[in-house]
Amino acid sequence: MRIVLIGPPGAGKGTQARVLAGLLAVPAVSSGDLFRVEVRQGTELGRLVRRHTDTGELVPDELTTTVVTRRLGQPDAADGFLLDGFPRTVRQAELLAESLAGDGTALDAVIALGLPDDEIVRRLTGRRMCPACGTTVHLVFSPPRVANRCDGCGGGLVRRADDGEETVLRRLAVHSAQTVPLLRWYADRQLLCHVDGSGTVPEVSERMSAALAAVRR
Ligand code: AMP
Repeated sequence: MRIVLIGPPGAGKGTQARVLAGLLAVPAVSSGDLFRVEVRQGTELGRLVRRHTDTGELVPDELTTTVVTRRLGQPDAADGFLLDGFPRTVRQAELLAESLAGDGTALDAVIALGLPDDEIVRRLTGRRMCPACGTTVHLVFSPPRVANRCDGCGGGLVRRADDGEETVLRRLAVHSAQTVPLLRWYADRQLLCHVDGSGTVPEVSERMSAALAAVRR
């Protein structure tokens, strides 16, 4: 299946994408993760995108789409993928649709994960991630077993550069202005289903699986 996961920052897209991609045996492809690798490695692309990611602004559409479609061209994504955080604008959605059509394929479903703003700010400001393996924890809701250490690989946990309160508020504003219009675009194409992102990780996964089962019928 070819699936897109849309949602405000902090709605749990990354966590849910990993769970669902495992169940569907397709790769989870996160545009944010692709950018963070470039930033960490100090590449030219990394330096370019950092100007946008550090302030919570979107990376330009053409550049983002090139990075993501290049990843989708790898063999493990040939039979399906779960996109997390891409597309985020109508223009990116158009470019993705063109690229898939060029390969004779199309999306099967778009899941919109929803969460109220105050809950998002609470989740994001307590979030910590492991740069080594990508695991995400929350200091209050899912604390690591050992303080500041990743349960998965033992690496040191860090706060994402863009998880400070001011940048979180900017990212939410960008989501409302640029990504919310995308929901209508996908609804018009009969691809969109809404899933409530509140509750525990298993509760949300269960809702997402049920939504996809309905699409497959
Ligand atoms: P995320 O990890 O999905 O929250 O993404 C982190 C940051 O990467 C965002 O705040 C943007 O600056 C950038 N980014 C990720 N995905 C996209 C996208 N589809 N379009 C533009 N910028 C993006």
